[in-house]
Amino acid sequence: MAKTEDPDVLIIGSGAAGGMAAWALTKLGVRCLMLDAGPMVDPDRDRTLMSAHELPYRGFGKPGRFPHVTQASEFDANLWADEKQNPYTYAPNEPYYWVRIRMLGGKTVRWGRASWRLSDYEFRARDHDGFGDNWPIRYADLASYYDRVEPLFHVSGRNDGLPQLPDGNLTPDTSPDSASIRRFIAAARAAGIPTTKPRRAGGALASSANLLLPEAVATGRLTIVPNAVVREISVDPKTGLASGAWFVDRRSKRDYQVTARAVVLGASCLESTRILLNSRPRQWPEGLGNRSGTLGRYLFDQFYIKGVVECVVPEARGGAGGRDLMGGAGYIARFRNLEKREAKFLRGYAYDFSSGGTPSARILPLYGEPLLKELDAVRGAGFSMTTMGEVLPRRENHVRINAAVKDEWGIPVLHISQKYTENEHEMAKDAREVAVELCRQAGFEVLASHAQMVPPGESIHELGACRMGEDPKTSMLNRFNQCHEVNNLLVVDGSSFVTGGSQNPTLTILALSLRASEHLAGRMRRAEL
Ligand SMILES: Cc1cc2nc3c(=O)[nH]c(=O)nc-3n(C[C@H](O)[C@H](O)[C@H](O)COP(=O)(O)OP(=O)(O)OC[C@H]3O[C@@H](n4cnc5c(N)ncnc54)[C@H](O)[C@@H]3O)c2cc1C
Repeated sequence: MAKTEDPDVLIIGSGAAGGMAAWALTKLGVRCLMLDAGPMVDPDRDRTLMSAHELPYRGFGKPGRFPHVTQASEFDANLWADEKQNPYTYAPNEPYYWVRIRMLGGKTVRWGRASWRLSDYEFRARDHDGFGDNWPIRYADLASYYDRVEPLFHVSGRNDGLPQLPDGNLTPDTSPDSASIRRFIAAARAAGIPTTKPRRAGGALASSANLLLPEAVATGRLTIVPNAVVREISVDPKTGLASGAWFVDRRSKRDYQVTARAVVLGASCLESTRILLNSRPRQWPEGLGNRSGTLGRYLFDQFYIKGVVECVVPEARGGAGGRDLMGGAGYIARFRNLEKREAKFLRGYAYDFSSGGTPSARILPLYGEPLLKELDAVRGAGFSMTTMGEVLPRRENHVRINAAVKDEWGIPVLHISQKYTENEHEMAKDAREVAVELCRQAGFEVLASHAQMVPPGESIHELGACRMGEDPKTSMLNRFNQCHEVNNLLVVDGSSFVTGGSQNPTLTILALSLRASEHLAGRMRRAEL
């Protein structure tokens, strides 16, 4: 990696948020030092395909390493943050599933790449329905940044002019829909529910590690220090400004300090919040920049109902479903509570739907030979939907430091407290009823449906906890992700969100980080820092 000296900006984290900050700042002439807790990984060199019989646990994995990472298997065990080394706590009746990847590129090395814009239904949510707070920015403030991020990540999809799902600068997806997808879309249209094509970043790997960091390094202005576990931000006692950070080397466990003119924190929503809560200079005994007491509060995510409905397309039974009938996918954007309050709950939810899978044996009420026969009959004939619902940001959902528990590097861990409330449960019920009705109207055979949300955190869309806002009394960051109380400290990841809608958040994290970083570069150029 290229070497620079005396960095202007220290960037913590190399995922979507930190990677975009490095990309934007280095292009504008700013010299950056990036610290990341994980190792460098070269997917070409470090990835090998292995058979289950070559693995000690035959692919199931060593018990206890990742109790909260339902995606993890023994095949990709090195990818995920080991929960024994990286513990966290929650109350016994409030499980929280915290999914982390600690390596260069962060979670973008494994994300599903679904890329939606937020709209003013989110940015101006309070104006719309009176709950919570507005963001300090509007859609118009972020639109031109979305316009630039989408081509950079090769996002494809279809523009449908929906106000709740703004059009993008997309590679057009003009692929034809299969007959089963067309039937479903017709049923949705008859119910007044809008559908669109999936919107997804392109390529097998659309990550910070291959799309952002190499270009930043190529400028000669980025030095990356891997295996650097940041413990806290340091503060100059004279000025009250951030002066750099202390970190622990992951392997030697030695302590180091680095200094810079400004600090950009992008270690992911909960890790950034943890670093700030663990940074307690004299002026900020409750966490850096936290006189308002909002740091760690207003944690939310999106709830998921996996397989809210599982169906069979009857004409595809017995292997009759060719490519014309089966296959393909789509998305239903939020349709509840747009024009008027029409449901028992606030806000709304979205669905992914897909055709052509095989229903799981778990939902077929059969055993032995009849089960095997039925599985054969429905192979490739499945149609299923997943719900993503908006979770209301509530002050009581929070994280705090649990000083009694430390991670492998002696750093106090987070205690996480997030619960879904009546609003999310009502939304989940509605989502199940609507999904079943649409599938029936499409002529599908409904095998199973449920309204069981995954535990908080499991959607891997944790947001809030260090939010933006106009008012320093109720927020941590201003409209450029700059800490109200610490002028040269920016937090550019999902912790800065005020609301999140039902859209996957990463595209918005990228756009916000780009905007905040370019604004920071401008301030540095004008010698305001
Ligand atoms: C399986 C999976 C599927 C997903 N699918 C989607 C999807 O389809 N669409 C979508 O929008 N989002 C999706 N996501 C979520 C998406 O990956 C995240 O929203 C995004 O990566 C967040 O970016 P970030 O930079 O905030 O955090 P990360 O990408 O997690 O990066 C944080 C970085 O900070 C480093 N770090 C952490 N702590 C420290 C510390 N103390 N010191 C130094 N460095 C530290 C980490 O090593 C990491 O590199 C998915 C995630 C997963 C895992």
